[in-house]
Amino acid sequence: LEDQLRQSQKMEAIGQLTGGIAHDFNNLLTGIVGSLDLMQTRISQGRTENVERYAKAAMTSANRAAALTHRLLAFARRQPLDPRSVDANRLVTSMEDLLRRTISESIQLELVPSDNLWLTLCDPNQLESAILNLAINARDAMPDGGKLTIETSNFHLDAASASTQQDVAPGHYVAISVSDTGTGMPADIVAQAFDPFFTTKPLGEGTGLGLSMVYGFAKQSEGHVRIYSEVGKGTTVNVYLPRYHGELDDQDVPSGLRQAHRA
Ligand code: ADP
Repeated sequence: LEDQLRQSQKMEAIGQLTGGIAHDFNNLLTGIVGSLDLMQTRISQGRTENVERYAKAAMTSANRAAALTHRLLAFARRQPLDPRSVDANRLVTSMEDLLRRTISESIQLELVPSDNLWLTLCDPNQLESAILNLAINARDAMPDGGKLTIETSNFHLDAASASTQQDVAPGHYVAISVSDTGTGMPADIVAQAFDPFFTTKPLGEGTGLGLSMVYGFAKQSEGHVRIYSEVGKGTTVNVYLPRYHGELDDQDVPSGLRQAHRA
């Protein structure tokens, strides 16, 4: 329990850090848009005074925003992936208490582990973060309560289906599906949802980095992510991770989870 508490404190610290960066980034963007807006007004009025000054101000803010993104990317890269053989059923089950504490009491939690689930090869700590991010999004989409379902399954993507999708290789995957009965998203939001810093949440509440982390993790693990959403009904996010054909090495449970199992 103490380990999980430490883990959620760590998540909170990361949340604060990324929230701060998103806030700075947003301020810089506001500056850029403001300068460009002034320039546009001047030009449309046929006046050229101060136009160069506004252009310089926009440029300075844009350069600072670029420096900020570089710092953020460097930070993200500092955590190299540590792929191991993972039993996703076991990982999801071990998160049950953490998930219950993360969502509110008005949200029902159902875990549906598939029988005979294949092993997958991925970084278990990052998978845990990805599931937590998806659960937080599900919670935020259900302010008046609802149901959060986390389901695992084996998934075979054949060559014909893979060829109709972008960036997806045919093969065997373990699917981890996080569903909510919340607000859902219209198609234009779904289209932007993976973009870093894209958020519809009030400043300070959303960083716009949750789904982009999930996307980056799946891609780096040679898997992929799909969003299915219907306004007023809810959202399902499926994370597909490659099947691992070897044996499960018990030593490969991350230290946080190993503690939890012992307790
Ligand atoms: P954040 O949660 O900080 O906003 P994300 O990248 O995780 O950042 O999500 C981006 C946006 O996608 C959210 O602001 C929200 O508009 C939308 N979104 C993500 N997950 C869901 C969901 N389960 N239900 C409804 N909307 C969602």
